[in-house]
Amino acid sequence: MTSHAANAMDNSDFKRTYIYGESALGNLKKNQMPAYPRNYEIWYTYAAGFNRGLNKAINDILRTNGSITLSQLDTIYNEHLAPSRLGDRVDEVGGKISSEIRSIVREVEGYISATSQYGDALMGASHNLSKTEDRNVIREIVSQLINSTKEAEEQNRTLSEQLAASQAQVQQLRESLDTIRYESLTDDLTTLANRKHFDRSLEQAMEEAVENDEPLSLLMTDIDHFKKFNDTYGHQTGDQVLRLVAVAVKQNVKGRDVPCRYGGEEFAVVLPNTNLRQAVAVAESIRKAVMAKELIKRSTGENLGRITISIGCSTLSKGDTMQDLIERADQSLYTAKRGGRNLVKCETDPDVNLLLDETGVA
Ligand code: GH3
Ligand code: MG
Ligand code: MG
Repeated sequence: MTSHAANAMDNSDFKRTYIYGESALGNLKKNQMPAYPRNYEIWYTYAAGFNRGLNKAINDILRTNGSITLSQLDTIYNEHLAPSRLGDRVDEVGGKISSEIRSIVREVEGYISATSQYGDALMGASHNLSKTEDRNVIREIVSQLINSTKEAEEQNRTLSEQLAASQAQVQQLRESLDTIRYESLTDDLTTLANRKHFDRSLEQAMEEAVENDEPLSLLMTDIDHFKKFNDTYGHQTGDQVLRLVAVAVKQNVKGRDVPCRYGGEEFAVVLPNTNLRQAVAVAESIRKAVMAKELIKRSTGENLGRITISIGCSTLSKGDTMQDLIERADQSLYTAKRGGRNLVKCETDPDVNLLLDETGVA
């Protein structure tokens, strides 16, 4: 649980991180790279294996070329590690959108001025025509009119073409923004909603619950003895387990429910329009689904046994803040851990709730 995680670095963390560090230094030497912090960070991350995209990018290059250059590492760093990657892309797309809007405004302004010139030409022609009967003058006026009309037509066509191009560009930018938004709210490892998404979803779900007078429940899940699992089988295998638990959580929720990766090995589920009794049922199905899975190590086929999770449930009461709801789910989770783990616990007895539901008192 979180309280345990707050402990000082224990012996196993010490050993594990040194293994990653040594592997990082080994790779720096092998590829004859200076051990600058940034290069070290890349190889350390590679050794720890939690950044799938980075590992894949490096492995792809190693597979093809046998070695990797500093400039390739540079690109990989920018794509997979640079802290401002998302911010940079938001800036870039934002900048492109502003410049596209500026160019559309310029086109439209040009068109408006051309249209007003054409209007003036028509007015002038009509005025001059009313004053003359001379065939040559009339011919001249008509010829000018034809020219102005051709110019206006040309302007019209250019504008339509430019607007069509802008429309395609804006559509592309909109798609880029959607991808960025998705990435900024998604956890890389499990593809569940991340913590930021969780905060927003819970806040919104609470507002809706109050507005529609609906129940709302929350599950907090923590893997049992996960530290030991990591120490025994390694962080990378631990990450596979996180993905497996995420799948179990996802498969046992539906509709408006929002499954999230709350932190390291803790998952939360926001359950709109769900009372405590129903929430406990969802939690039980998640717990059983995780327990039912046999863990087979992909690379070796080794059977790693099973893992279990503990779950705490809370439900919205009048006047609750987000923090109240989270804290009560956390307390129930703690009760589940103290009770021996592989358990679902909730803030009040769900049977009491059931009784209240049936008598219509709730
Ligand atoms: P408990 O049953 O009390 O929850 O015991 P625990 O060992 O699971 O204790 P705790 O919840 O404090 O464990 C947190 C551990 O989860 C620390 C770390 O080893 C592991 N962990 C956290 N985040 C990650 C991650 O992203 N990947 C991997 N592989 N392990 C993680
Ligand atoms: Mg924990
Ligand atoms: Mg744990």
